[in-house]
Amino acid sequence: MKKLLAVAVLATFSTMPYAADRVLNTDIVIVGQGAAGTAAALAAGELGAKVVGLEKKGIAGGTGNFSEGIFAVGTKMQRDYYIPLTKDETFKKIMNYGHWRSNARLVRAIVDKSADTVDWMIKNGVKFEKLTTNYPGGLYTWHIYEGRGAGWINLFQKKATKDYGVQVLFNTPAEKLLMKDGKVAGVIAKDKDGNKVTVNAKAVIIATGGFADNPEMMKKYTRFPNTDGLAQSGKNGVGIQMAWSAGGGKEGLDVQQSYRPGPRGVGTTNHVSATAKQPHLWLTPGGDRFCDETIMGDWPAAGNALERIGGQMWVVYDNKNLNSMKHDGIVQGVGVMVPIGAKLTNFDKEWPEAEKAGWAIKAKTLDELAKKTGMDPVKLKASVEQYNRAAEVRHDALFAKDPQYIFPVKEGPYYAIKSVASSLGTLGGIKVNDRLQVVTDKDEVIPNLYAAGSDVGGMYGDSYDLLMAGSTIGFAVNSARIAAESAVKDHNINKK
Ligand SMILES: Cc1cc2nc3c(=O)[nH]c(=O)nc-3n(C[C@H](O)[C@H](O)[C@H](O)COP(=O)(O)OP(=O)(O)OC[C@H]3O[C@@H](n4cnc5c(N)ncnc54)[C@H](O)[C@@H]3O)c2cc1C
Repeated sequence: MKKLLAVAVLATFSTMPYAADRVLNTDIVIVGQGAAGTAAALAAGELGAKVVGLEKKGIAGGTGNFSEGIFAVGTKMQRDYYIPLTKDETFKKIMNYGHWRSNARLVRAIVDKSADTVDWMIKNGVKFEKLTTNYPGGLYTWHIYEGRGAGWINLFQKKATKDYGVQVLFNTPAEKLLMKDGKVAGVIAKDKDGNKVTVNAKAVIIATGGFADNPEMMKKYTRFPNTDGLAQSGKNGVGIQMAWSAGGGKEGLDVQQSYRPGPRGVGTTNHVSATAKQPHLWLTPGGDRFCDETIMGDWPAAGNALERIGGQMWVVYDNKNLNSMKHDGIVQGVGVMVPIGAKLTNFDKEWPEAEKAGWAIKAKTLDELAKKTGMDPVKLKASVEQYNRAAEVRHDALFAKDPQYIFPVKEGPYYAIKSVASSLGTLGGIKVNDRLQVVTDKDEVIPNLYAAGSDVGGMYGDSYDLLMAGSTIGFAVNSARIAAESAVKDHNINKK
């Protein structure tokens, strides 16, 4: 009898679902709660929409957490700093930078919205520290916020939930679009226990941050797939594929957000790595010079030059240069953590690990350096000789490098740091119009579907644009606000 009962109980349990699948009904579902997704959630909530946010990870923010500042033109801060930059001028500069390969209407929409977005952020509690640019000659458009991106993203997450009832489901990656009668009608996701989560919605906004962590897509679509991607884990392009599955077009897939080259996988605060992010002597794996090394400051240019030679180089300097970086400070800043002028006081402490890992080499002579790095000793010595001569006569006959940044390589020990092209993410994928509606390759609108942030193409022409400092967060937040406003308007979601 006991045995029979046990069998009956087991049979009952095996027919029951292990845990409950869920169905939610909402106005707008937002896929991804990084910079763009968070901004879209707050903006849509403010406009009276019922919002569900889906986030793959256990916390919000994505790559946006690491950001320092946002692009804008026409702000009060710029007026206070006497920056006479106009929207027209900025728009033209962006379009010319990308050789008019960008979506001009989209660029215009982002530029025009940008000052209002900074006001909107301030109104919602964000504090800005200063206005700056990020390379010599860049535009003063980088509005630096307090607490990096994580600061405002957490603030907006709390505000959206508390003030507007936005419901964010963490550890719940979206898997595909829900289609009804051939139209986008929501999203299907999975929670951490493997349960299916169906979100029925009037509109879907996709904001999953690109595809830098999807090797197949990187190989298929980018010019240089083997970049060192910073803070890109989990960016597998599912959001982009969801939009394509509904007929969305493709745009700008080959553009990456090039960053300063450096040793692969090493954090930006490491002082040995910081020595490689200076305009020292840059050599191909064979030992030839290949560019004016001051392009280090203009990351897309550095990325492009490195792509041409296969993505990897040696950064070479001598003992005198090292002492100068340790005691006088560096000439090229590495973000806000190791700024221009910083003295590399952690170098000696961090050196043994770097050397052990194989990306930092020290040698008594140039011949030994060639042997340890695999460079051709004849080429290495010829490159050093040309470089030292350029320093002496204050003219680089090869690449016309500014003589103030030619530091001769004369005094052993010599150092070589293996550096690779790096990237802060991909910058293309889904084709949209200037209302951030997803469109087909022939520009037909896909009803109910919107996209924002790094999943979207069209903002950049042939290269990431460092000229408009803060541009990718600028694009994420402005495109998110526009997407949210379009979704609310198109579906007659009334303000409460
Ligand atoms: C170190 C660093 C510093 C930077 N500094 C700046 C700066 O100062 N200024 C600037 O303009 N830009 C900066 N950037 C770039 C900027 O952070 C990105 O361009 C921006 O975060 C892109 O926003 P996003 O919303 O598209 O992507 P993210 O902010 O990365 O958000 C995407 C989110 O989607 C989630 N997601 C992915 N797949 C799914 C799925 N299937 N379902 C649900 N959720 C999913 C991810 O987990 C993530 O939370 C920096 C980047 C780095 C790495």
